[in-house]
Amino acid sequence: MLLAAPMAVAQGSVQARLLTEDSSLSATRDSVTLRLALSQPVPYRVRLLPAPPRVVLELNTLDWQGMDWPEVAGLRGLRMGHRGDGWARLVLDLAYPMLPETVAQTVQPEDGRAVVELALERAELEAFEARADDESSFAAAYSDHLLHPDAPVRPSRDDPQVLRVMLDPGHGGVDPGAVREGVTEADTVLAFALALQEELLRRSGFKVSMTRTDDSFISLDGRLRAAREARADLFLSLHADALPEGLATGAVVYTLSEDASDETAGLLAARHDRDDLLVGVDLTRNTDDIASVLMSVAWQDTKLRNAALAEALVDGIGAAGLRLHSRPVQSGAFSVLRAPDMPSALLELGFMSSPRDLARLRDPQWRALMARAVADALDLWRVRDTERRALLQR
Ligand SMILES: [Zn+2]
Repeated sequence: MLLAAPMAVAQGSVQARLLTEDSSLSATRDSVTLRLALSQPVPYRVRLLPAPPRVVLELNTLDWQGMDWPEVAGLRGLRMGHRGDGWARLVLDLAYPMLPETVAQTVQPEDGRAVVELALERAELEAFEARADDESSFAAAYSDHLLHPDAPVRPSRDDPQVLRVMLDPGHGGVDPGAVREGVTEADTVLAFALALQEELLRRSGFKVSMTRTDDSFISLDGRLRAAREARADLFLSLHADALPEGLATGAVVYTLSEDASDETAGLLAARHDRDDLLVGVDLTRNTDDIASVLMSVAWQDTKLRNAALAEALVDGIGAAGLRLHSRPVQSGAFSVLRAPDMPSALLELGFMSSPRDLARLRDPQWRALMARAVADALDLWRVRDTERRALLQR
């Protein structure tokens, strides 16, 4: 295989190093997967060049030194070099047309290291050429994966970047939430919240608070106040409601909106507000509150972060192979989510009205799996959110 010698790079710039022992290049009959382990995240871009088909991966301020790539099926050759303007370049000469299935950079919160993964799948020549011709739109499609080097993504040892999470197990005390077979929603979601807290604390980079740690009643406003006092970066309300029709099953993530995404979402939002009346809290003016939150300047950014949070939760739960509702992302006028500047979501872990969901919710092993999936999701959201903020600051 042809390997071009890396040229000298400009001195004085902060460079990411390729961690050769953790980097790999592998192939199957119809795919090639490249994993680059880096000492720190770098901006990068991918381009496709036609005739002959090539994939060009460029990474900013990366030193290629020391990597000895194996020969793999699917590639005629692989060349490394530097463009001289800070961009290091890797050219893959394809044996047949392939298109990127995955292009992603993930950052490990523990040590600030990054992995750039590029997975290529065999494709029709026509499809390849269509993408290769339109380089600008291709670059735009992957612009999410650009990461600015000045972004404060690398946690320092003394002052680690900690994500302060407020877990909010719903209901409690005089308000048991849904009740099935002698099991209350309040107890079920508290057991889950404790498992999730344990899982998050096992990982680094999380500080966890809870709105309640026993079977006591907290008003919706009290839950929000607790999040404020803890200066939470993220608010996650946990539920496992019952629905009258008994048909709902699987996890659903709700974010705040004025109008409910469907009848069920409207019902759940209204019911949770009504529960506050159990201790005489009047929320009749609450719809106005939500309207003013949705008009605030801060909300424009929070709305996007909420959508990303919901997406990450669905990705995490789906990746763990756990049951998701057929419409896993929904929205409604949930009072407890009405913080204009704090990313918030309400997660229905499942529905106690579904016998199958109920069996899962009662199973500590299932709860541990779900806790791991949600923790994965929060890790994922944190990386994506940091990348997005870095892009905005450019
Ligand atoms: Zn509930």
